[in-house]
Amino acid sequence: MDYMDAKGRIFDIQRFSVHDGPGIRTIIFLKGCLFRCKWCCNPESQEFEIQNMEMSGKPKIVGRDVTVREIFDEVANDIPYYKRSGGGLTLSGGESLLQPEFAKALFITAHDYGINTAIESTGAVDYKIIEDILPHIDYFLMDVKHTNNEKHKAFISKGNEKVLENAFKIAENAKNLIIRVPVIPTFNDTEEEIKDIAKFATSLPNVTKMHILPYHRLGQDKYKGLGREYLMGDIVPPDEGKMAELKRAAESVGIECQIGG
Ligand code: SF4
Repeated sequence: MDYMDAKGRIFDIQRFSVHDGPGIRTIIFLKGCLFRCKWCCNPESQEFEIQNMEMSGKPKIVGRDVTVREIFDEVANDIPYYKRSGGGLTLSGGESLLQPEFAKALFITAHDYGINTAIESTGAVDYKIIEDILPHIDYFLMDVKHTNNEKHKAFISKGNEKVLENAFKIAENAKNLIIRVPVIPTFNDTEEEIKDIAKFATSLPNVTKMHILPYHRLGQDKYKGLGREYLMGDIVPPDEGKMAELKRAAESVGIECQIGG
């Protein structure tokens, strides 16, 4: 089968993004996730099934099946901008590695167009899947949310064993691996917790960078739209001072740390 005919399920395409990889990028959001993070700002990403959601009082269908060709037909005109800025294509979600053939076909096609590729992933799938797709990924942005397994289970629904185990293998073989940490009050926002993740990151071969991303409440209305409860209550996002403190804590163990990503 031609790579362009590979089919997958997405719920959004964001063009001209300056996040999730270098330069100007297209971000494709794939549907389906292994985890159920309590703070998830894309709750419509979690189920693989196509869903109905209410947004601003209007019904919306979340999720569509598309081919790689249809995606590139939609974004092909933007590609010169991405090239000029050193940007490219990023897959996010959800967890893109749950649709590995589709993800791989998207990356191969992006490289054919001459743009770089990035994935934002938890890496918590069978390593064989990652091994197969890794040569096609230029920037692996890997979420490591907590080193404590019990806390990981309590806030994310599953343990962190696979994440920590795969991080070593990915670090050994990826072109660029950056560890990313969403900073979530009551979950991982103490200096000690961020330092523990930073220490873990420094223990990985070839890893020199970590990003810390402040919790925000932008996804809150989507929970209502899906008929779900928002489980983060009135928790307040960390302010700039707090994020600067946590950046210093991470850097104290010898890793370059950036706020945002
Ligand atoms: S891993 Fe990401 S997409 Fe999946 S539930 Fe957690 S925050 Fe949401």
